[in-house]
Amino acid sequence: MYKISDIVDKLNSGAKLTLEEYELLINERNEELATTLAALADRKRREVYGEDVYIRGLIEISNYCVNDCLYCGIRRSNKNVDRYRLMPEEILLCCKQGYELGFRTFVMQGGEDPYYTDEILTKLISDIKSSYPDCAVTLSLGERSKESYMRLYDAGADRYLLRHETASKEHYCKLHPNTMSFDNRMNCLKELREIGYQIGCGFMVSSPYQTSKELSKELKFIEEFKPDMCGIGPFVAHKDTPFKDEPSGGCDLTCYLLSILRLIHPKMLIPATTALGTIDPQGREKGLKAGANVVMPNLSPVGVRKKYELYDNKICTGEEASECIECLRKRVEKAGYKIVTDRGDVRK
Ligand code: SAH
Repeated sequence: MYKISDIVDKLNSGAKLTLEEYELLINERNEELATTLAALADRKRREVYGEDVYIRGLIEISNYCVNDCLYCGIRRSNKNVDRYRLMPEEILLCCKQGYELGFRTFVMQGGEDPYYTDEILTKLISDIKSSYPDCAVTLSLGERSKESYMRLYDAGADRYLLRHETASKEHYCKLHPNTMSFDNRMNCLKELREIGYQIGCGFMVSSPYQTSKELSKELKFIEEFKPDMCGIGPFVAHKDTPFKDEPSGGCDLTCYLLSILRLIHPKMLIPATTALGTIDPQGREKGLKAGANVVMPNLSPVGVRKKYELYDNKICTGEEASECIECLRKRVEKAGYKIVTDRGDVRK
């Protein structure tokens, strides 16, 4: 017979769990167990990162997308989206503002928008790197060719975020149209790592058709793949998508998984995501207390924020970047941590 406390001890000691043990851990979740795991995870994160919380300035460069992911508000088929794309000069202005506010990492995220050719991006990346040599440039622009990833890396990009979305091919096919490929996405992650990027992957919590079986596979995948960063957030329905009536993921389950992730890889960078802050007003604080150590405030121009709506009711779409970071700084301090001005590279 499995004893759940043995599984917790095993996880906390750094040993690998079996798929069955991960699944059991998920199925046996209750308040007491969540509190125990959060305390263990918080201890581990403090051992590695102290009280530090790293900030990443998120610049949402475009909401044009060639893809049609069933869960995503900016999917190609959504005709109600007011599409925009930021020009390189506008992006550079966001970086300038961000730098003054203490950001040392800029994350450029967007839909898969063919406007951003390698030529445009390499110029933009090298402009950012020459203006702010002490900053890290992170890209989150979806699937591109290996050649393209190489060119962007050579231009100075340091990191790439590409959530795998789900570690199960079958599940992937239920969340994406058949024009999209699980194998290709996984292969992109492999290539990004080979090139030398620090990589982030991740998945949504409680996306449609996800059961504890899928979740146990997610944990196994992260354990084996060992990304530098793992971003997870609850699935949140968007009104103009096929999944509009699907229930959103919960804060408690997300935090529980954050704790398990911290225990699987104590050094991993783990963000408390905007989606988590969207489903619960204290979501990001709860995420930090459960083991997360990164937050990604929005640096996009206020005029476009509402338009980059991946899911309904996304928070922080009205404030200026300076207000956002101040609000977050207070929240982080209240939770018992502190925001640092640092590139925030992963500890090796
Ligand atoms: N085009 C880029 C960026 C995608 S947006 C790429 O392909 O990587 C960043 C992430 O938001 C996605 O990877 C997805 O995990 C998450 N996301 C999209 N729609 C969501 C929804 N409805 N609820 C919660 N998260 C969502």
